[in-house]
Amino acid sequence: MTDPATPKYRRVLLKLSGEALMGSGEFGIDPAVIHRLAEEILALRRMGVEVAIVVGGGNIFRGEGLARAGMERVTGDHMGMLATVMNGLAMQDVLEQHELSVRVMSALAIPQVCESFVRRRAIRHLEKGRVVILVGGTGNPFFTTDSGASLRAIEIGADIMIKATQVDGVYDADPKRNPGARRFTHLTYNHALDHRLAVMDATAIVLCRDQNMPMMVIDLHAPGNLVRAVAGEPVGTTVTAEEQE
Ligand code: UDP
Repeated sequence: MTDPATPKYRRVLLKLSGEALMGSGEFGIDPAVIHRLAEEILALRRMGVEVAIVVGGGNIFRGEGLARAGMERVTGDHMGMLATVMNGLAMQDVLEQHELSVRVMSALAIPQVCESFVRRRAIRHLEKGRVVILVGGTGNPFFTTDSGASLRAIEIGADIMIKATQVDGVYDADPKRNPGARRFTHLTYNHALDHRLAVMDATAIVLCRDQNMPMMVIDLHAPGNLVRAVAGEPVGTTVTAEEQE
């Protein structure tokens, strides 16, 4: 077994969807989920790993859903991005209760609430051991926080992006509907695109593929998973630009 005290990755970007923060609820944030995550992030920091987090907002608002209900799409997307700010602030609060040093940085300028995202400043925070929570997605409508996560992972020079979700990896079919669905341990971004696999939206996939940013999809709810993934254990599904030997 790999020694969890020796991380394989030194700087990671963790993507948490809003849905993941909901836990067993139907809306909002389940504090139990964030407290457990905080324990794991603390464990990563003790291993010397630099941690940036991108949070989604789908537990509160999604632009697409609001547009379907009759709202102008761009306004809906602005609300979605603001929802990620709320999630980020909740996350900051809980991480600080776990004695972590945290900075929230937003793609939308909200100076009374948090810092704006400045790449060099974000990297400096990470080097100083602070957990950086990146909110507001890309700051533009018509994107997702998966695209925001891919963009930020590349910008800050993360070694890997880890998407912690409700499922334990990427399957060749929806495992909830198809009991015979098989989980990949590894696949390429092109394979995910060609087969329309539920990894991330195409914009995010293409960005990671073209910039050679590897990612892992892991089960958020399995305790210890995050630490195992960062230690290099085969957890979930790894997605890379090139085939692996
Ligand atoms: N959003 C946006 N631009 C971005 C990122 C997010 O407009 O760069 C909006 C969009 O409306 C999206 C919402 O914010 O539906 C919440 O983000 P997302 O759906 O990615 O959250 P998640 O699914 O991760 O909870």
